[in-house]
Amino acid sequence: MALYINEDCINCGACEPECPTEAITEGDDIYEIDAKTCVECEGHFDEPQCIEVCPVDCIFKVQ
Ligand code: SF4
Ligand code: SF4
Repeated sequence: MALYINEDCINCGACEPECPTEAITEGDDIYEIDAKTCVECEGHFDEPQCIEVCPVDCIFKVQ
């Protein structure tokens, strides 16, 4: 259960402070979600907060 950020990320940083589990960090090229820490916001919010704030819609569920 986790989300991932794809290469469309523009490094705006909007998602990082919104994550309740601090799963998002600035990676070498784009921002990254730690799959072990991301809980898809369950127990915190109704919707994944990173997806809510991302201006380019580059965050998806791991299939
Ligand atoms: S879905 Fe929620 S817990 Fe997972 S990275 Fe996004 S903001 Fe953090
Ligand atoms: S909000 Fe979206 S574009 Fe901005 S850093 Fe996060 S994943 Fe990248």
